[in-house]
Amino acid sequence: MQSLVIGNWKMNGSLSANEVLLDQLLPALVELKGVQIVLCPPFPYISQADSRLLGSKILLGAQSLNAHEAGAHTGEVSAAMLKDLNCRYVLIGHSERRSLYGETDADTAKKFIAAKLGGLIPVLCVGESLQERQSGSTETVVARQLQTVIDSLGIETLKGCVIAYEPVWAIGTGETATPEQAQAVHGFIRRLLAGQSAAIAERLPLLYGGSVKADNAAALLAQPDINGALVGGASLDAAAFAAICQAAALHS
Ligand code: PEP
Repeated sequence: MQSLVIGNWKMNGSLSANEVLLDQLLPALVELKGVQIVLCPPFPYISQADSRLLGSKILLGAQSLNAHEAGAHTGEVSAAMLKDLNCRYVLIGHSERRSLYGETDADTAKKFIAAKLGGLIPVLCVGESLQERQSGSTETVVARQLQTVIDSLGIETLKGCVIAYEPVWAIGTGETATPEQAQAVHGFIRRLLAGQSAAIAERLPLLYGGSVKADNAAALLAQPDINGALVGGASLDAAAFAAICQAAALHS
């Protein structure tokens, strides 16, 4: 399966800083084969990135959306708006949405449905906290986060989607799961889904996220059930992000 690398800029950037980043990134990435690259800028900069990505194979994504179709939801952004802005992907259930903005598994399922109905590819983020890992409940937590979405729409809903395993303790901390730790959870996710649909499980891209950097990407991406990376901090550094994409291209 082709590798997928998604850069999550989070709430960073400005018109001028984005110009510099894209100027540095594009020459390094446009010719790269064997990897699909997706950039997720903050909402106000999606059009800016879209103009710059025109003619390249790099796609756009958004960092979240509102589950409602339209209407009185001040400050929110719908799936249709993201589609209008040429977004193809959307992150759903990122741990920062869950922990800082109180999004529950049920909210995540609603957003997932809205993304699908709106014609976007949901990137469902799952992962355990440090406390959950230490108490041995990683698999229980990840299974619950996945199952809430599956129970809402059925296993078929995952067809054509992406799952990102992001241990919360590794996001933005500089602490990465070892390739073995990450593979163990990715293997668990693949088996869990295969128990419900072997065909879907086999084709579902499973991304790892959590302090992926230029120097640890290759070892993570070499794992059999890791099909790409969701990259936060390092996606703001052109050289680091390009190196991660190059490592992913080698492991397609
Ligand atoms: C993320 O934002 O999904 C992420 C994994 O961040 P970082 O790479 O900075 O840990």
